[in-house]
Amino acid sequence: MTIIDGKALSAELKAQMAAGMPQIIERYGRVPHLVVILVGENPASQTYVRNKAKGCETVGMKSTVITLPEDITEADLLQQIEALNADDSVDGILVQLPLPKHIREQKVIDTISYEKDVDGFHPMNVARLWQNKPCIVACTPKGIMEMLKAYGIVPNGKRAVVIGRSNIVGKPIAKLLLDANATVTIAHSRTEDLPSITREADILVAAIGKPKFVTADMVKDGAVIIDVGINRQEDGKLCGDVDYESVAPKASFITPVPGGVGPMTITMLLQNTIECFENRMTAR
Ligand code: NAD
Repeated sequence: MTIIDGKALSAELKAQMAAGMPQIIERYGRVPHLVVILVGENPASQTYVRNKAKGCETVGMKSTVITLPEDITEADLLQQIEALNADDSVDGILVQLPLPKHIREQKVIDTISYEKDVDGFHPMNVARLWQNKPCIVACTPKGIMEMLKAYGIVPNGKRAVVIGRSNIVGKPIAKLLLDANATVTIAHSRTEDLPSITREADILVAAIGKPKFVTADMVKDGAVIIDVGINRQEDGKLCGDVDYESVAPKASFITPVPGGVGPMTITMLLQNTIECFENRMTAR
């Protein structure tokens, strides 16, 4: 069994990005600039935003964090986004989710210019993904594909099962695995007899949000296990959607939590920012 070390792979990819920064400056006269908007004071969101800014710093990119009050109106938030869309010195815009209940998330996502949509959530990027056109791919699924590639795991012809059908993980990872010629099944909360389906998986992606949900009896011997879940346990420690202790011995490859998919997600955000930057620069 091989542990897929997302932390180490992230460090490697970030080092490559950092090494490329001098050429970027030479060619374009400045580094890419990511703006992250945080609404309210959700502690988990604060940590994510901090880590995103730290990631930018590590690779030598510029980041700005805009903190807005919990009670900001939707109209005011949209106005801020419009101003960033129009600001030529800004290459990527990310609004940290979840947002307070009085703000419509989809409206916010739709307002970010798709050319600065580093999360890959804008309808234009989603549509382009499903039409096999160049696009900004959502960070978590993109990171999963990078991990498979780095570890020589080839989805071609394999049975892949994705548990979860969210817009940010389940659906896009299913599409990317399909593009890599896997035979893909998407399972979800209404799936009947889930274990009989997951046991067929050569590659199993768990994106459910339920601690240790995937147990050894649900997994085929030698399967590749990708655990997207981030769940906080009662003792304060993080765990995934997979019961790592029991599943790992059956797996050929497995991602740990923490240290698997999580760090890759942030690293792909940095890559997406560079991609948005270069697309904008070369479109001139
Ligand atoms: P979500 O809540 O939007 O979706 C969960 C999915 O799980 C749903 O599609 C639902 O149908 C499915 N589901 C729920 N109960 C089920 C059941 N009993 N059987 C089968 N399927 C079931 O979640 P999400 O945004 O996709 O996130 C999933 C998990 O991944 C969460 O723990 C989240 O924190 C984590 N996450 C991690 C990263 C990362 O960078 N590592 C990024 C995004 C999300």
